[in-house]
Amino acid sequence: MGKITGFLEFDRKVEGYAPVEDRVTHYKEFTLPMKAQELKDQGARCMDCGIPFCHSGCPLGNLIPDFNDAVYRGKWEKAAEILHATNNFPEFTGRLCPAPCEEACVLGINEDPVSIENIEKNIVETAFSKGWVVAQPPVKRSGKTVAVIGSGPAGLAAAQQLNRAGHLVTVFERDEKVGGLLRYGIPDFKLEKQVIDRRVAILKEEGILFKTGVHVGTTISATELKEEFNALVLTGGATVRRGLPIEGADLKGVVQAMDFLKQNNKRVDGITELGEEIKATGKDVIVIGGGDTGSDCIGTSVRHGAASVTNFEILGKPTVQRPENQPWPFWPMRLRTSTSHKEGAERIFSISTKKFIGDKNGNLTGLITSEVEWITAPGRRPQLKEIPGTEKEWKCNLALLALGFTGSETTIADQLGLKTDIRSNIKASEADYQTNVPGVFVAGDQRRGQSLIVWAISEGRQAAHHVDSFLMGSSNLPLKGEGDLPRI
Ligand SMILES: Cc1cc2nc3c(=O)[nH]c(=O)nc-3n(C[C@H](O)[C@H](O)[C@H](O)COP(=O)(O)OP(=O)(O)OC[C@H]3O[C@@H](n4cnc5c(N)ncnc54)[C@H](O)[C@@H]3O)c2cc1C
Ligand code: SF4
Repeated sequence: MGKITGFLEFDRKVEGYAPVEDRVTHYKEFTLPMKAQELKDQGARCMDCGIPFCHSGCPLGNLIPDFNDAVYRGKWEKAAEILHATNNFPEFTGRLCPAPCEEACVLGINEDPVSIENIEKNIVETAFSKGWVVAQPPVKRSGKTVAVIGSGPAGLAAAQQLNRAGHLVTVFERDEKVGGLLRYGIPDFKLEKQVIDRRVAILKEEGILFKTGVHVGTTISATELKEEFNALVLTGGATVRRGLPIEGADLKGVVQAMDFLKQNNKRVDGITELGEEIKATGKDVIVIGGGDTGSDCIGTSVRHGAASVTNFEILGKPTVQRPENQPWPFWPMRLRTSTSHKEGAERIFSISTKKFIGDKNGNLTGLITSEVEWITAPGRRPQLKEIPGTEKEWKCNLALLALGFTGSETTIADQLGLKTDIRSNIKASEADYQTNVPGVFVAGDQRRGQSLIVWAISEGRQAAHHVDSFLMGSSNLPLKGEGDLPRI
């Protein structure tokens, strides 16, 4: 374990951030690196618990006490091997994961948890800087071919695992560049895109083929791919956006968050042909929706130079502390304040948007809201109730709808005759990730609905194991938490 008395000696420390006035002038990441000694001290805080709840809190089953100990002892290369044994892309999760492992950390019962996510990020960044992360092409090819449809974290994880098992993998992506929501949803100030490019270069060197600008179901039919390849892995995400079908929703200035974010990420990438410009500059912006997407809209609007940024959330304001009915080690619904929230947005909770208002030219000028309360009763789902007399008009000329996604697109499911659930996500059991059509597998948001990067990587890895078994009769690819040491 780390240092026996480490948790008594050292307080939790996490990386810092550049001051708001500096960071909002650009789109680069703005975290301030921790010193090597500070990271060692954090590793030393780990108690190497008999039952490491962090490990089961992590959807990847990361071997957390093991890499904490390696960092404490300054064995960074070993730490990198341990980390990569269960996680193909710790550089994504180390930056972006909400860290359920930390909520489950035993130290968190009466102390601050170990800074697991910062340790993870620093391990992988050290590994890249030292040149330890290198391509590992398979020693032998199996002669089998697999098409992965969608290049988000689920698709990339499935592709790397299947390629390592020797199968020839082609990843089809309809966008111009690889990465899914990592590339075109999450802003550069949270994840600079060279971090994706750096990893994709390794995947290519390992022998994975990428075909971008190919919309499966339209450019090429899914049935054709089914005939051409020995197996298909569907990782197209849950891309159907939730709308807000209220009066005035068609006014100019009511915009889907993903249109706003995608265009901005392309702009930051130097792309000039962007269609109609969507910018927050000088505008009164209201971001409707309080999740990750809403937070990313706030940070982007601030960087555009919005006149004001307000964020609406229909749910009540959670407590900062873990609620009593969500005890450790479960994931608690508590108030989370992102770096973007701190950049100048006013957050309003328990509020519902009733109507958008426009001028005679069809431009958005404002909106009307009501305050709401949630009525709870044992055994019943909470009911939303408007509070009479709380109507309010807000000035607004850019409303960003960050209301999440209702499910996945159905073209491929229709073409292949796949069963879907009530949210239009493709059905497959967690036991083998195989759909009702043999040889067609599904993973990530397209199976589980909108979720997290860590779950997408986890599902991609799990699905890869079952695809390999389908093709070869058995598989040596690791399942959750099994790790395949010593690979990076
Ligand atoms: C704005 C935003 C911010 C987020 N921030 C975070 C965060 O901070 N932390 C976190 O953990 N999670 C975050 N998430 C969620 C996370 O990004 C997703 O859960 C994750 O990316 C899902 O991965 P995936 O591989 O299943 O799908 P996606 O990342 O959605 O990738 C699917 C890919 O498939 C492609 N595709 C779809 N259909 C086809 C087709 N027919 N043919 C070819 N290609 C196709 C799409 O173009 C896309 O590239 C965020 C989501 C959004 C929208
Ligand atoms: S639960 Fe926390 S203290 Fe215990 S092994 Fe995991 S990281 Fe270390």
